Amino acid sequence: MYSESNIFEINHSNDMEKIIHFLKTNEMLLTKPPFCKSNKEMKETIKSSLSDKHVWRCTKCGEFRTIRYNSFFSQFDIRLDKILKIIFHWCLQMNHIDVKKLVGVSEPTINKIFQKIRLLCLNDLKRESFILGGEGEVVEINKSLFVRVKHNVGKDLSRQQIWVFGMYQRSNKKCLFYVVSKRDAVNLLNLIYNILHQTA
Ligand SMILES: [Zn+2]
Repeated sequence: MYSESNIFEINHSNDMEKIIHFLKTNEMLLTKPPFCKSNKEMKETIKSSLSDKHVWRCTKCGEFRTIRYNSFFSQFDIRLDKILKIIFHWCLQMNHIDVKKLVGVSEPTINKIFQKIRLLCLNDLKRESFILGGEGEVVEINKSLFVRVKHNVGKDLSRQQIWVFGMYQRSNKKCLFYVVSKRDAVNLLNLIYNILHQTA
């Protein structure tokens, strides 16, 4: 894997060799060659006229594929180092206006990349991620009231109330929050039964 300093170094680098090596090492680009339409294994070739500098090519039929083939990066046509920088800034929770200034890419492109990253995260959330507890695990529960206050004045407190039910697992600091429509015991117990590990 990679160390933190390595990530910072890559993020400031425009060296395509380093960037591609980093992306492959972290399996963000294909690590094994794809196959051409005639089912022959393609080879990685240098093509300096392209910004990626690397392509997949079949030496038999001459078919080309970009180095981004079958990866997250194939969805975008801006330089790899710029996409990487945008991902990096997204991880730091920077907004698209600041990212635009820093990376020099149009706002729609940044928004598109942000949206694709969010989708990726959403798809990665598996059902198992929503289970807390287990043998010897301590799970704390708590419910809190959130009120959407528009003008920060008292009368707004009569607005719609949102109850949030939270569970926290001490050992790994994993926590889950649920918005609940009813905060009666039956409703909350149902939620607990669904989320807690069967042995809890
Ligand atoms: Zn071929």
